[in-house]
Amino acid sequence: MSKLSETSDVTAWAEAGKKHGAVRVGRMAQGLIGSEILTIAAEIRAQQRAGRRVCNLTVGDFDPKQFPIPERLRAGIVAAYDRGETNYPPSDGLLQLRESVQKLYERELRIRYPIPSILIASGARPILHSAYAAVCDPGDRVVYPLPSWNNNHYTHMVGAQGVTVECAREHRFLPTRAQIEALLPGSRLVCINSPLNPSGTAIDREELRGICVAIVRENTARKARGERPVFLLYDQIYWMLCVGETVHATPTGVVPEMAEYTIYVDGISKAFAATGLRVGWAVGPVDVIERMSAIVGHVGAWAPRAEQAATSELLDDPGAIETYLAGFRAGIADRLTRLYQGLEEMRAEGLPVEALPPMGAIYLTVRIAPFGKHTRDGIQLKRNEDVRRYVLEAAQIGIVPFQAFGCVQDDGWFRLSIGAVGLAEIDAALPRLAHALRQLQ
Ligand code: PLP
Repeated sequence: MSKLSETSDVTAWAEAGKKHGAVRVGRMAQGLIGSEILTIAAEIRAQQRAGRRVCNLTVGDFDPKQFPIPERLRAGIVAAYDRGETNYPPSDGLLQLRESVQKLYERELRIRYPIPSILIASGARPILHSAYAAVCDPGDRVVYPLPSWNNNHYTHMVGAQGVTVECAREHRFLPTRAQIEALLPGSRLVCINSPLNPSGTAIDREELRGICVAIVRENTARKARGERPVFLLYDQIYWMLCVGETVHATPTGVVPEMAEYTIYVDGISKAFAATGLRVGWAVGPVDVIERMSAIVGHVGAWAPRAEQAATSELLDDPGAIETYLAGFRAGIADRLTRLYQGLEEMRAEGLPVEALPPMGAIYLTVRIAPFGKHTRDGIQLKRNEDVRRYVLEAAQIGIVPFQAFGCVQDDGWFRLSIGAVGLAEIDAALPRLAHALRQLQ
């Protein structure tokens, strides 16, 4: 195809900046750190490539062999491509899909929003980023709980100031009204995720109501003073994956006035095991959604047209969703329960482990705290990272410490994710963990 006769090999110049270690990028890019979880996951993949059998409980993703996407979605995408749906979609999403999201929320969450409140993007990440970028000015205060997923990175990207709330085990690692209320004055954004990545626990309806009442009160006072409000970014990407008796609570469901201040983050990535398809959405106040749409549009972070069309068809088919979710949720609940019970048995035996009962998402929160003990090689386990390495080496199980979710304390809490493993792998891994813990002295 090329009409040029010679190739200019520019490799040396392209690599020069990196080789000499000179800092040539701006402060934001320089200070941005990559995903800690992906670093751990890459280490495990390298071990697997080297032939080691590792039970990988690290990534918040799905193995399509364990959890395929709904057939209705797969067939819908193929049909949409066959129809030639390959051009740009509208930058705020196909109207047909925005209407489907509107109907889904009314049908399942019992909240009705107008169409201009709904924005489609290529997954929840661009929605999160555009929400931060739309409401925050540099230096604004963003309140987010620890542990939580990626809020530190988005805060950094918009030059805001992170104010963290340390959440306790007794509150299932979720924020309380008292914690949030104390930080509302002077804050621009509060971020809550339920069911929560990493803990797999869900916020209590009354606690959420308390937080929402406090936000409305704060904003009523700000309105009187002519000040901009504090917004609630409510990431409910896992809401369809509640397990057991858990009932998902929404801010506008508990306090309708919150519609002025709540930005919902949602999408198909987790609900339909469709992380690679890239369809997400925001639902929120029209003025904010319009600005988020402008940001998403300029970045070009819209979802592929064919995937949008197929998602719309799936969301409009409650029967297909129900059938799919029944099997999907059962598969998730089986794995989480099996892990939980296995860990409870270890605890009963006196091994230093503790797990929180699973409530939703694809995660289990586990404390593995053999601190002060020595491995057979004489290494003393002092920090979460020591425990993570020991569990990987001695039990061939990959887990993620809460440090990857912003926590600083080395108190033994880890996230276990079940999206990429089968029951047989879990059954084989549990005795390995028990054995490894028994061997410590
Ligand atoms: N929100 C939470 C809480 C998540 O855990 C994730 C992914 O792990 C996302 C958002 C991002 O979802 P997406 O893959 O649609 O960008």
